[in-house]
Amino acid sequence: MKPQPRKRFAQHWLQSQEALNQIIRAAELTESDRVLEIGPGTGILTRRLLPLVQSVIAVEIDRDLCTILNKQLQTADNFLLLQGDILTLDVEAQLAEYPKFQKPNKVVANIPYNITGPILEKLLGTITAPTQPAFDLIVLLVQKEVAQRLNAKPGSKAFGALSVQVQYLANCELICHVPAQAFQPPPEVDSAVVRLRPRLWQPPADNPRKLEILIKLGFASRRKMLRNNLKNVAERERLTQLLELLKINPSARAEDLSVAEWVALSNQLQKLEIIGEL
Ligand code: SAH
Repeated sequence: MKPQPRKRFAQHWLQSQEALNQIIRAAELTESDRVLEIGPGTGILTRRLLPLVQSVIAVEIDRDLCTILNKQLQTADNFLLLQGDILTLDVEAQLAEYPKFQKPNKVVANIPYNITGPILEKLLGTITAPTQPAFDLIVLLVQKEVAQRLNAKPGSKAFGALSVQVQYLANCELICHVPAQAFQPPPEVDSAVVRLRPRLWQPPADNPRKLEILIKLGFASRRKMLRNNLKNVAERERLTQLLELLKINPSARAEDLSVAEWVALSNQLQKLEIIGEL
């Protein structure tokens, strides 16, 4: 019998073999991979991972689940379960106690949706401080709307600050949709599998911190034109000139700019020292 799902830990047990197959295939696993799994739950994904890789290091917050999982998977000597909160646990420091387990190079997980943003930031870092060394590959089951944002093209509704931030830090692909009925209990939203390949944006922004601030300001009010959202950054005239110089429509909204254009805009503002004091 499966343990009763707990709402406060966003527990929804994946049931679909098809979804599991897609996750496994997307992760391009090899025998030398060390996989970090976040929220193994009942271990349905863990059991698929274990025979394919060198090791699985799983972080699970729910103590009761940890007891069950450790009992059920005690014969798998390439499995290490760390009890704790993925957002605060220092996985690397914990691993110092287990010399057999090397640092994970991939992440494969059906994550708790209520902390998707912070998990992405933990795994990828920020524009100012990208996680180094980066993971080779990250395959996650996420809420469909998040998947659409990660995968959005400029000019589309789904293209937001999260899209620019994550696409600056990784190549993002949508692997497949997973309906709510694939889970027990079904969440209120549909889901999707995404694959992220972290890499540094080339060429990087001259001043990543300023790019980060610019994105935040630029997307502050989505319905306004970019130049209105940035009116505290530079005078309207100046901004219009600058946008024209960069061949960006002066009446564009934040969602219309590609990542390359965001980088170009922040570089220009930096060069002209327009956002010097931000
Ligand atoms: N991977 C399982 C469970 C997914 S549900 C499956 O596919 O069926 C999300 C899981 O994340 C649950 O097991 C939940 O207890 C765990 N979880 C929730 N918050 C967490 C946190 N902050 N750190 C680590 N695990 C967490």
